[in-house]
Order: sequence, then C-alpha cells, then structure tokens
Amino acid sequence: MRSLAATKRATFAWAQRLRNAIPASARVCEELAELDASGFASQMTCGMQIRNFIAGEFVEPVGGCYLENIEPATGKTYSHVADSDGRDVELAVTAAEKAFGKWSRTSAAERSRILLRIADLIDRDTERLARAESVDTGKPLSLARNLDIPRAASNFRFFATAILHTESEAHITDNVAFNYTLRLPLGVVGLISPWNLPLYLLTWKIAPALACGNTAVAKPSELTPVTASLLCEICREAGLPEGVLNVVQGTGQNVGAAITLHPKVVAISFTGGTITGRKVAESCAPMFKKVSLELGGKNPNIIFADADLDAAITGSLRSSFANQGQVCLCGSRVFVERPAYQSFVDRFVEKTSELSVGDPLEQDTDQGAIVSKNQLEKVKFYVDLAQQEGGSIAAGGSAPEAINDRCRGGYFFKPTVITDLPVSCRTNREEIFGPVVSVTPFDSEDEVVAYANDCDYGLASSLWTQSLNRAHRVAEKIHTGTVWINCWMLRDLRVPFGGMKQSGVGREGGDEALRFFTEPKNVCIAKQG
Ligand code: NAP
Repeated sequence: MRSLAATKRATFAWAQRLRNAIPASARVCEELAELDASGFASQMTCGMQIRNFIAGEFVEPVGGCYLENIEPATGKTYSHVADSDGRDVELAVTAAEKAFGKWSRTSAAERSRILLRIADLIDRDTERLARAESVDTGKPLSLARNLDIPRAASNFRFFATAILHTESEAHITDNVAFNYTLRLPLGVVGLISPWNLPLYLLTWKIAPALACGNTAVAKPSELTPVTASLLCEICREAGLPEGVLNVVQGTGQNVGAAITLHPKVVAISFTGGTITGRKVAESCAPMFKKVSLELGGKNPNIIFADADLDAAITGSLRSSFANQGQVCLCGSRVFVERPAYQSFVDRFVEKTSELSVGDPLEQDTDQGAIVSKNQLEKVKFYVDLAQQEGGSIAAGGSAPEAINDRCRGGYFFKPTVITDLPVSCRTNREEIFGPVVSVTPFDSEDEVVAYANDCDYGLASSLWTQSLNRAHRVAEKIHTGTVWINCWMLRDLRVPFGGMKQSGVGREGGDEALRFFTEPKNVCIAKQG
C-alpha cells in the first residue's frame, strides 16, 4: 500500500520535474513546481492559477477574474480557475476559425500521428494526471489511475486510428448516374463536459472532433478544470498546431452559454445534466446547429432469481458506488426478483458497509469525496426525502466519522442503500448522482420491465440472469440506450453510446462520433453518352 507520505513525495518529485520540463507559459504547472515537500494540502494552497488556452498559449481571462477551485476531500481552496466570459470565447473562436483551414486540409495520416502522440504523452504522464484528477474531483487516486486517465489515452488512440479506416458510401443510380458521399469536417465545434469524469469525457469529444479535421473550443466544468489544462500542455508538446484546440475555463452561464450561442460555432457536443441540456438545445435550435446531448440517468439494475448472485452483487456494488455513484451510468434503482431479494439485500448491505470511505489519495480507499458541497447537500436532501417517502436506510445514510486531519472539512458521505421505497416516489425517479441506491423486489418479468421504464430517463440498464432467452427478451423491451447483461460499464469504444427519452439526443462512440463531427455531402455524376 502506498502511504500518504509517499504520495506527497511523488507529487513533489513530479512538481520538480515539471519545473525543468514545462515552458513558463503554463501557470498551472509553474505554480505546482513551487510546491514544497511539507505536505500535500499546503502544496495545493499555493494559489496556482488555471488559465485559458487559446491559439496555443496559456492566457489570462480578459476580465482578469478567477474563481476558487476547492479540493473536495479537504473543502479548501487549492487553486484558482479563470472566470472567463464571452470575450474569451470570442478570442477562442477566432483562433479556432483561423486554424480550421489548414487543419481541415491536413492529411488523415498526419492528424492521426499527432493524436497518437497525444495518447502516448497521456500514458507517460498517467501518474501526474491521475493525481490531479483525484485532487480536483475527490475520486480515489486508484480509480483515476486505472480508469479515467487510461481511457483518455484510449479515446485519442481510438479516433486517431479510426480515421485511417473509413469508407465512403457510393450509390449507382440505374444506368444514369454515380453518387458518392464526401464527409467533410464541420468547422469550429463547441465541446462542453461535466465534472464527474473530467478528462475521460472531454477527450471523448476532443479526439473525434479533431480527428475529423475540426477545430474546437472546449469548456470543462469549472469544478474540475485542472486536467483539461494539463492536456493543453500535452497537445502543445505533441505538436498540435495552435488554435486547433482551445480551452476556455469558467462557468456554464458565462462560458458554456457563450459557446452555444456563438454563430461561428457550428456544432455542440454536450455532456451534462438534463436541465442544462435543455438550455443548450434551446440556444442551438434557432441557428439549426448540430447538437449531441448526453444527459442524466436513473438507471435500472435488474437481478433475476436465476442470476449468479455473487457476480450480481459484485457488479451491483460497482454500478451503485463507482466514483461515489457519480457516473451517469450508475444503476441507482436496483430491482431484485422476490425469491432472491432477502439474500441479495443482506449480502449487498454487508458488502456496502465494508467499502472504505477515505482520503482519495490513500491506496486502499474505495469511496472518496463527493465533488462539491452543493452536491453533498443534494445527496443529503434525497436521503432525507427517501425516509419521508417511506424508505428504510439499510446501509450508510450519513457522513462517515472523521477520516484524517487532512480531510476534516471534506465532502464525504457513506455509500447508502435504501429499501421499502414505493417504485414511483421521487427518490426513485429523480437523478441523485451520488452514492445512494434503492432496492425493490419484483414478482414477474412484465412487472420489472414496467418498473424499469417508468422513468423520464433512458440512459443505461443492467440485467443479471442465466437465461439467454430472458436476457434477449428483456433487453429488447427496456427503453435505454445501452443494456448490459451480466456486466456493467463494459465499454467498447466502437459501439453507439447515448440515451433515450430525457437522457439525450444522438449517440457518441465509433462511427456515430465520426458522423456527428462531419457533414455528409453527396456528389452525383451523370453518365454521359
Ligand atoms: P451540468 O450542470 O449540466 O454541467 C455540464 C457542463 O455544462 C458544465 O461544464 C457546465 O458548466 C456547463 N453548463 C452549465 N450551464 C450551461 C449553459 N447554460 N450553457 C452551456 N453550458 C452550461 O452537469 P454537471 O452537474 O456538471 O454533471 C452532472 C450531470 O451530467 C448528471 O446529470 C449526469 O448524469 C450527467 N452526465 C451524463 C453523461 C452521459 O454520457 N449521458 C456522462 C456524465 C455525466 P459549470 O459546471 O461550469 O457550470
């Protein structure tokens, strides 16, 4: 097990390396290099500033204002992030527009080469990126190291190679004409992402957008800005031409809205909450912008009595509490067929209580901090509401005992299991986005399909059963964009990813992303003579 002291030393060593390696323009990196080895918390209160990345340079926001960036595990400000506005977006769009002509004409092989280099540099810097992601989000360092950062590299590698293997459609019209389809880059695209998987989700947009020859203005969540900034440094080192990727930091209200409303931003790829998604759609509709919306979820996790219960319990622990339940795909509504119900609940509750809630930087921590005070308050609100709605707390339900001195002011909550809730109550219908699940029994396949579909969301679902026939039958009836059978979050980057109903519009991943980030144009050649 790696101790906190070792973690601090490693961070210091990383900071020292950065001092030598990184150009002075990257203030975030510069100031990390000023850290001393006296302690991680004091290192992170050095007031480092996370600036915008526009036209290949790290620049101050035009208004000169910064927001506090709080470490969720401590509740303390550890850096400041540019509080940008429409003026910064204007600069970024201008830079992206200027870069578009050349980048869009750059050969696929050259674009691929640069994106593969970015992937390699992410791999090289896994440890520092994982550490930054863990401190910024409160997620366990082990999760960032094993999931978030490797996936960011995979995103670049996947789309860098995908563009080398594309095909164009051709249609022959009887004996009179030949049609072929060009797929052209769109221009300047806007990419907006949330705080739960910061680098993972932002690169899921940046990689296909750039691979297809677009230039981009991206906005990470103001709650988790650091890895996007470190990625810019990597892009520059990889030789990505200036202006191809621009990152404007700040709030959704000031920066996100300005991106969606900018007339020269021709498409928006957005991941976030359903309410924000609606605003994005409203901004884009009058300009007929191409929009991809990946929104919220309230995902069913269905366990039939014939399931391998050990596998279902292990899988359900992950799907309930991964990243403190802050994954859009988490299965927050667990339904268990009655003959297996009591046994499932007993064992699931026992395993839940064994999860260690702790300092995200400690190696044996299963559950880190909730991302913000607001989000923690939201979780508490729903746990109170669940009890008012008749629910019983079978595990968790409160903040843990003090974790360590460093984390005394952090935003922690125990993983929580609620039973006895009515299926259609608010707790079971509204997205909590935290470490809280309800468990409900059911008696028949039809009943559980109705429960699963009785929800405004339709992002993902899991089924646990040993019956192949039932798996196919139920998968077809459930209204979600993804159905996992005897697994959860098993991802193949080629498959269409996205939600039905209020979980979104459009799909990401594989060909879907390549199609979203290109405009099809049909060329029809008449046969002469
Ligand atoms: P959010 O509040 O909707 O914010 C998402 C992003 O949009 C942030 O960068 C936010 O900026 C920005 N934003 C806010 N208002 C905006 C506006 N008017 N115009 C343009 N952009 C605006 O969501 P969140 O709280 O960060 O993330 C949690 C939500 O994301 C959950 O509902 C979760 O289910 C969903 N999610 C969905 C998926 C998926 O693939 N379907 C994946 C992950 C998360 P600020 O943060 O700076 O305000």
